[in-house]
Order: sequence, then C-alpha cells, then structure tokens
Amino acid sequence: MNHKSKLPNVGTSIFTVMSALANEHNALNLSQGFPNFKSDQTLIDLVTNAMNSGYNQYAPMAGNLELRVAITNKFEKLYNTTYHPDYEITVTAGATQAIFTIISTFVKPNDEVIIFNPAYDCYGPAIELHGGKTISVQLEAPFYKVDWEEVSQKITSKTKMIIINTPHNPSGTIFSKDDMLKLETLLKGTNIILLSDEVYEHIIFDTEKHQSACLFPDLKSRSFIVASFGKTFHNTGWKLGYCCAPKELMDEFKKVHQFNVFCVNHPTQKGLADYLQEANHYLELSEFYQRKRDLFLNLIKDSRFKFIPAQGTYFQGLDYSNITMENDVDFAKHLTIEHKIASIPLSIFNTGNLDKKILRFCFAKTDETLKAAAEILNKV
Ligand code: PMP
Ligand code: GLN
Repeated sequence: MNHKSKLPNVGTSIFTVMSALANEHNALNLSQGFPNFKSDQTLIDLVTNAMNSGYNQYAPMAGNLELRVAITNKFEKLYNTTYHPDYEITVTAGATQAIFTIISTFVKPNDEVIIFNPAYDCYGPAIELHGGKTISVQLEAPFYKVDWEEVSQKITSKTKMIIINTPHNPSGTIFSKDDMLKLETLLKGTNIILLSDEVYEHIIFDTEKHQSACLFPDLKSRSFIVASFGKTFHNTGWKLGYCCAPKELMDEFKKVHQFNVFCVNHPTQKGLADYLQEANHYLELSEFYQRKRDLFLNLIKDSRFKFIPAQGTYFQGLDYSNITMENDVDFAKHLTIEHKIASIPLSIFNTGNLDKKILRFCFAKTDETLKAAAEILNKV
C-alpha cells in the first residue's frame, strides 16, 4: 500500500514524546499540560451519581441540556452576555474537537487562516487537512505583543478565519482590552470568523481580567468561543469542553458535529452540570494557580533561569540563555535524561527563526512536585 500522507510534515506530538521520555527516564514531568493531583471529590461523586442514576445513553446532540443551561448562566454571570442554550452552545469532546470541527465546518481549499505563532499545536494541521493555508503572525519573546498593523496587512479577500488564544499557551501572556478592541476594529465589516480559544479563561493572575471575545459585540457576532472542562476542573482525561457562537454559525457547526461525534460522554456532562451550580468551583481557580506559580518562581528565583511571571495559563516559560547555547529541543532532552526534569521546548509551537532559548514548564503540580522541580532547576 502506498498512500500519500495528508500531513506529510507531521510527526508524533511533542507532548507524547516528552511525556514518554519523562517516564522512560523516571523524570519529573512538567512537560505535557496536565495536573498531577486529583480533581475535587465532589465532582467525581457527581459523575458517579450520574452513572448510577441512568445517564448512560446518548446525550442530546448539542449536549446535556442542564449543562448547556449552566454554561449560559456562567456567561451571564461572568461576562453579562447571553448564549441561548438551545441554539448557541455545543458540548464537545474537549476543546480539541471543537477546534477541529469549527475549522472543518468553515475552511475550504485555498482559504487563508491567520494564526499567531507560537501557537497551540492543533490549529495548523486541522487547517492543512481541509486544504486551507495557514498565515502566520510571528510573536516574539518575552512579551509576545501583537503588531495589529501586521495583522491588518495579512488580511486578504481569502481570509476565512483568525484564531486567537488568550490566556496563551505556550507563552503565558494575555490579550489586553486594547488588543481586543483593535481586533474588533480590524474585522468590522468583513466576513471573517474568529475562533477564540479561551481554554484558560479561569486561570489569570495579578488582578488581570480575562478579555473574552464575547465582551466585544462585533467580535461576539463572528466568534466561536472554545472552552475546556479538563483545564478548569483538573481532569484533562475526561476530554470534555464546549463551544459557543451565534445561532447561524452554530447551525453550520452542528451539521458537521453530528457526523463527527454526534454527541459526547453523557454522565460526565450531567456531573459537570451539577458541579457548575456552585460558581466558586471555577472562580477560585486563578487564586489556586497563582499561588502555585508564585511558589514555583519564588523557589527558583536564585537559579540561572530567567523569567517573566506568566499572566495566565498554568505554564511558565524559563529562559536558559545564561546556562547554555544548546537548542531548546536538545536542552529539553538533556534536562530530562541527565537532570530528571521534563519540559517542552518552545520552538515546537513555531517560534520561527527566533531561537530564544526558552522551555515551557507546567506548574499544575502538587507543591511537593514543584519543590522537587525547583531543587533540580537550582542545580542546573
Ligand atoms: N487549546 C489550548 C490552548 C490548549 O492548551 C489545549 C490543551 N491543553 C487545548 C486547546 C485542548 O484542550 P482539550 O484537552 O480540552 O482538548
Ligand atoms: N494542551 C496540553 C499542553 O499544552 C497538551 C495536550 C496534549 O497532550 N495534546 O501541554
């Protein structure tokens, strides 16, 4: 059999590679982004109750209605805006499926999609698979500020979609209100769809406020907002998320979603619907992770790594240019094998030719793990 690959330049994801390397060498795994602590027992009990009380068959295609209503209530409470539970919300198998299905629904051959690099790894391949062309806007460490004039120049009659991600994986930076207003102005009067990846909306630090696309009326009218329960409630393995969009966009999305997965895991949806009744379950998350960020950074403040504290997400970039000129992939492997600590080299997120010698460390870990990690990093 001889098939031409549809993704000839794609190999195994770095998350799989680094987690496997960490396991092989018995290293602390601060690479792939997942918590190494258990999620709230209350939530686990609610999902268990859902299984015991019959939520074991297909959910409605758009998702369990109680969960969609809970999501509507969350948007009203946090952002004072409404998404109708019947038409404007779909529950998905994690943010990844939402993103793939959005791209699949709208991107046709030769359409252009603007993304900001470094970018989360699933955007580019999904665009390519549908024959679209990725147009990259390169952001530069350490501040990763967007040059909106450059974005404006890259918008053409072929631009179908722009993908943003705030708080941003891998840099830990956030878009300001001013960024969002500039984006809104740029897109006004166009047909461009905005895919706003907001999976870290509840993990934002130092009294900053998350600037959701739904807060900006013209952006909201053209946006899909993508969220992930895995990120918010410490259970990435459940692979549950959702997306919201105005009805006319969501109607198109659902045409694809119904043949993509039809619907997703039902008891987990019911458990999450019950859990979301208590807003503190997501409101406390920023404080929870800010404490972890501060603990980690305080412990390594005298190390040879340099850093600017993450503004959001549970990732911290560490600049190792005081230590070695090795490239980041080699240095990440070296740290894993020799020093027993795994991270993610930033270049895999497409940093272009800008080799800034930065590794990404995930601090969604127990305090004990963070202390052990700091002890290692202080000796490097
Ligand atoms: N977008 C970003 C920016 C992410 O970091 C992740 C996963 N960490 C996802 C999307 C995918 O989320 P999920 O695990 O819910 O598919
Ligand atoms: N989103 C996670 C990260 O950035 C990884 C998810 C995955 O393994 N695909 O580390």
